[in-house]
Amino acid sequence: MACKLPSGCKNDVFKELDYCALHCSDEEVEGNDIDDYLEGFSNLFMKYLFENIVSNKFYKVGKDRKVTPDYEIKCFNYSELMGNNSLIEKLGTMDIVIKNIRFTKKTS
Ligand SMILES: [Zn+2]
Repeated sequence: MACKLPSGCKNDVFKELDYCALHCSDEEVEGNDIDDYLEGFSNLFMKYLFENIVSNKFYKVGKDRKVTPDYEIKCFNYSELMGNNSLIEKLGTMDIVIKNIRFTKKTS
């Protein structure tokens, strides 16, 4: 079952909750195994970061100030970074904005 976040989220819910591990509250996490929750959160958060990276396009400004796509990241695997200096350079200039994610205060 998909997460019920009103603004939309396609992640599966965490256990029996209405929300995924990125969007459930501390109160909802209560009573669940914190290690399971943290593992679920970590997996979804990495997926979120990768999707954010993959959806990014970089642009260049030409002589006539025309803006054209310069580099589009179509897939992202750590092993593909090796030797891909162009991609490494682009990632080094990238800003990632993290939105609508609940970071739990619970750690044990
Ligand atoms: Zn969600």
